[in-house]
Amino acid sequence: MRFSNLFAPTTKEAPKDAMLPSHIYLIRGGFINQTGSGLYNFLPLGKIVFDKIRKIVKEEMDKSGAQEVTMGVVSPAELWQQSGRYDVFGKELLRFQDRKNNWFVLGPTHEEVVVDIVRNRINSYKQLPLNLYQITTKFRDEARPRFGLLRGREFVMKDAYSFHASEEDLIREFHVMEQTYKNILDRLKLNYRAVDADSGAIGGSGSKEFMVLAQNGEDDILMCEKCSYSANIEAAKRKKRASYHEAPKAAFAKFHTPSKNTIEQVSEFFKVDPFYTIKAVIKKAIYKDKEEVVVFFVRGDDSLQEVKATNAAKALELVDASEDEIKKAGLVAGYCGPIGLENIKFFIDDELKEEKNLICGSNEENYHTIDVSMFNFDKDRYADLIEVKEGDCCPNCDGKLKLSKGIEVGHIFQLGQKYSSAMNATFLDQNGKSQPFFMGCYGIGVSRLVAVMIEASHDEKGCIWNDATAPFMLDIIISNIKDNEQNEFATTLYNELTKENFEVLLDDRNERFGFKMNDFELIGFPYALVVGKGLQAGEVELIKTITGLDESAIKKLQQEQKTELS
Ligand code: ATP
Ligand code: MG
Repeated sequence: MRFSNLFAPTTKEAPKDAMLPSHIYLIRGGFINQTGSGLYNFLPLGKIVFDKIRKIVKEEMDKSGAQEVTMGVVSPAELWQQSGRYDVFGKELLRFQDRKNNWFVLGPTHEEVVVDIVRNRINSYKQLPLNLYQITTKFRDEARPRFGLLRGREFVMKDAYSFHASEEDLIREFHVMEQTYKNILDRLKLNYRAVDADSGAIGGSGSKEFMVLAQNGEDDILMCEKCSYSANIEAAKRKKRASYHEAPKAAFAKFHTPSKNTIEQVSEFFKVDPFYTIKAVIKKAIYKDKEEVVVFFVRGDDSLQEVKATNAAKALELVDASEDEIKKAGLVAGYCGPIGLENIKFFIDDELKEEKNLICGSNEENYHTIDVSMFNFDKDRYADLIEVKEGDCCPNCDGKLKLSKGIEVGHIFQLGQKYSSAMNATFLDQNGKSQPFFMGCYGIGVSRLVAVMIEASHDEKGCIWNDATAPFMLDIIISNIKDNEQNEFATTLYNELTKENFEVLLDDRNERFGFKMNDFELIGFPYALVVGKGLQAGEVELIKTITGLDESAIKKLQQEQKTELS
């Protein structure tokens, strides 16, 4: 391709709301353009990168034995009503009516549609397993579309759905997909972790996320410094803690604690470590057709993990409860405790089970109860509610957990029979008995990956593509287009390399050399060959962009080079 023919509208200006390098450089480099909130077009350079990623994803999926299909972007609301998700998916699901007043949705994910494809077409265990995938546009009316391609409203996902005759076979395929995702991310040369994850609105039992480690990631992940344990903070576990401080010794009693309504004040007042106090976090849980105040009890020095708490309460969402709502629910803010608490839904963190010598609110203004033991609660009250912190102990070994930022690029789920049961999709098993299919689903963000490549590899001037995804491997820059010798040499080389199927761009634009260099650095091709004045002496200059390194590694290298030179 000749640069003079390429539609790559590069600019100096970044969009006002662009904060992240991938967003800034993909727009400035003319890879994409924005048409509305969370809506982007791929321009020629962006499309080349996108197609390279798509190809890798497709090749690895095909290799795994999955078969490609294409499902409609629009699906009938009726299918979503059958699965029960029409009411619970929330505002991300864009619903609309056609001219006959029938309701439809723009597919944010396709479990319902694929179940409808398979049911009544696969009838016997002999036809299983089956894994169908597609690489198509999804629409989610995200509350806060931002960061360019990282969180769009319209985006491209590879989504696969597998069907099995048993749970064991589903688990086998789950591992095949895990390996497939690793192959994809290895080929893209990304630094990533497969982490334990929460299953969210998609549902089901086991799930794993693939996180690319990047400073600008929206997700917090905890990784063991010794073993391979890693988890999203929403699902992270830790070894149960013990306090280094001595437990307070006192007999069970109610104490007057005037105006001591925070954990700090209470532990100061009783001269005990906050570990021995119980914190009440009061929230309002939102359900499909009701709202209710719910209390979560955790140790005083722990924090509530909102996703875990939402799951425990089986709520759609948790929001802060107002003072008024707290009062109406019969609770005394600052003095709320689990002992004698009635007529309210409450949950206690697993780590408080059968613990002793604790201090909690007495459910009465200005009173706390001491020497509380946690023996008499129903087991249904207990759940994992706490946010695991950096420095906590790994649940699998004695290593410490370290906190990192990650960008979620893929998520694989063991769905089990959730959708097949709800939608009555069954097969006849070996004993001739009808059973709902066992299902898995597997998503990877293809358009998000375009941006992730840049988050993982860029410098202060622009993108740094590696050889797996570069739009062109080599940019031949003709320094002075009016110089016939330069022109001829560069064009001959360009023609020969193109003949050899080399991905080469010839910058033959009638522009200043500096302008062309800026575009080279902004777009970020792995190599540039500058054909300039040196040609007379038989010299051309090859510039190699540092590839496959993160920002800190690049800085370090540049520093080393500087020291070497001086
Ligand atoms: P997130 O937590 O980032 O919103 P999710 O859990 O909603 O992601 P999934 O439903 O698991 O995502 O979708 C599978 C993959 O699709 C994600 O891992 C991600 O790569 C991609 N994806 C999801 N939402 C978006 C979006 N709004 N824009 C771009 N890619 C997305
Ligand atoms: Mg999401």
